[in-house]
Amino acid sequence: MAVVELKNVGKQYPGADELAVEDFNLVTEDGEFVVLVGPSGCGKTTTMRMIAGLEEHTQGAIKIGGRDVTGVAPKDRDIAMVFQSYALYPHMSVRDNMAFSLKLKKYGKADIKKRVEDAAEVLGITNLLDRKPRALSGGQRQRVALGRAIVRQPQVFLMDEPLSNLDAKLRVDMRAEIVKLHRKLGVTTFYVTHDQTEAMTMGQRIAVMKDGIVQQIDTPNNLYQQPSNTFVAGFIGTPAMNFLDANLSDGRASGQDFGITLDETRRQAVDGLGRVRIGIRPEHLHLPEAKTPESRLTGTVEVVEPLGSHTMIQVKVGESTLTAQIEPHQRVAMGDTVSLTCAADRLYLFDVETDNALVGIDNGQYDEQAA
Ligand code: ATP
Repeated sequence: MAVVELKNVGKQYPGADELAVEDFNLVTEDGEFVVLVGPSGCGKTTTMRMIAGLEEHTQGAIKIGGRDVTGVAPKDRDIAMVFQSYALYPHMSVRDNMAFSLKLKKYGKADIKKRVEDAAEVLGITNLLDRKPRALSGGQRQRVALGRAIVRQPQVFLMDEPLSNLDAKLRVDMRAEIVKLHRKLGVTTFYVTHDQTEAMTMGQRIAVMKDGIVQQIDTPNNLYQQPSNTFVAGFIGTPAMNFLDANLSDGRASGQDFGITLDETRRQAVDGLGRVRIGIRPEHLHLPEAKTPESRLTGTVEVVEPLGSHTMIQVKVGESTLTAQIEPHQRVAMGDTVSLTCAADRLYLFDVETDNALVGIDNGQYDEQAA
């Protein structure tokens, strides 16, 4: 176990004009589970490879367990990696696959046996130890790949999209297993994914990256409630947040076919501004049953998706298409005109020029009926 420190870490690949990663700053807790998330090409893998020592960082400093690892070879960094392709040796048994790196490092036979059997027990694969990889399911193979990393008892685990070869159901099962495993072993872990749901459900903290730059590092709840800008707000949460640009006047934010009354907090936050970018999550847009609300967004229903526990609808309001999550008993049809509403304290506001957040939402309870 170890604290990992990244100080102004950056990477410029030879011949590249731009930095692949820029000014990455993070100090982990000892034993923390940190997820790096972001769209393709944002620099997640480059960051992992720099921590692993597979790529040299061209700026800043990386410390593992207090030791500056600049120039230290990957094998001497006391880390273990798990990748998307688990590349087990097909001719070796599970036991031999797991023991392989320990044999290379000349560990004693009894020590290897104990480490392999302990790891197999933790992973629930003791009964598979004498099988060959071809006789395993995808999920079992992934467990063996994890086992190979665990037997090394490293200070840090680096996992780069380890579940992307698995089908959707198995991914959900395995991500819960990895979280349990982390809790059991308590090893500092970096985990790369482009899937925000995976990031939110697994990370104690999540670094959201875009174009090589960290946009925000925070807990899942804080990312959801207090995103630092429209990119984080739109990336975290599913379905994605709706955005609308509005004119401000007399405490109201309005535009074509919508008008919303701002609460005191939000009035203060937009004081002096003429325009604002509004963010509303689909789960905070409601279809009021009786009265027509003061704050309303009126438009035509374009898509209706009944999902059992709730129904997703898409409504064209002015030039924007908004996604709203409504109750399953609320029957609407394509082509209907509806008025959606949102509680005043569930509105996110952003600066139209910079895309930076002006106001997020609080942890506190809010009054659904007031919507
Ligand atoms: P993905 O989710 O697609 O794996 P990523 O977020 O892991 O993407 P990286 O693989 O770290 O992104 O790539 C970051 C940037 O660096 C990209 O613009 C990529 O083209 C560039 N890059 C990656 N590897 C190299 C390399 N060996 N040489 C030059 N440029 C590279």
